Amino acid sequence: MSEATLINIHAVLKTSSVNGPGLRMVVFFQGCSRNCPGCFNPQTHPLDAKTLMTPAEIFNEYYAGGVEGITVSGGEPFSQPAGLERLLESSRARGLSTVVYTGFTHEELLKMPEASVALTFTDALIDGPFEIEKTEKTLLARGSTNQRTIFLTGRYAEADFYMPGKIELIIGKNGIVTGTGFGGIAPFGNIAFHNTP
Ligand code: SF4
Repeated sequence: MSEATLINIHAVLKTSSVNGPGLRMVVFFQGCSRNCPGCFNPQTHPLDAKTLMTPAEIFNEYYAGGVEGITVSGGEPFSQPAGLERLLESSRARGLSTVVYTGFTHEELLKMPEASVALTFTDALIDGPFEIEKTEKTLLARGSTNQRTIFLTGRYAEADFYMPGKIELIIGKNGIVTGTGFGGIAPFGNIAFHNTP
């Protein structure tokens, strides 16, 4: 399959230990029209092109090895289903596990032909919109308790997503501190950080 499909990218983390099991490369897609109240990353909402890259270019620029998998988040990854499919397929070809966060439910995705193909390359899907009234401490790597962790292969189990209160703070070259992860932090409750440098 061709890797020529361009993906509109918001940001990429070369490594993270708070966006799914083990050490992972994290790709944040740009663009989401869902507008969940309290969304943790409104910068990813605009559908305008931010950074357009093919899967091969993403790996060439950001893949440093030493990670067990890739996590795709956003934004809404399934708003670019062809690019998502090719990124996940490229990840599998490199022996990486695949985790995808989406605002769609699994049932909704199964009715979308292109999304269904991307799901065949997904090990674990965290589904459903962020619901700010359900942000009590979830213990799992998710933003709100309505979101399900659905295992589409035998690669992972729920215990692999148990990471209560884990966040990473990243100090950018410009001195701006941003965070990523899912932290149950008093007095704020469970907060999903996906702001990236
Ligand atoms: S929480 Fe996710 S699905 Fe909801 S608006 Fe934000 S990026 Fe979109």
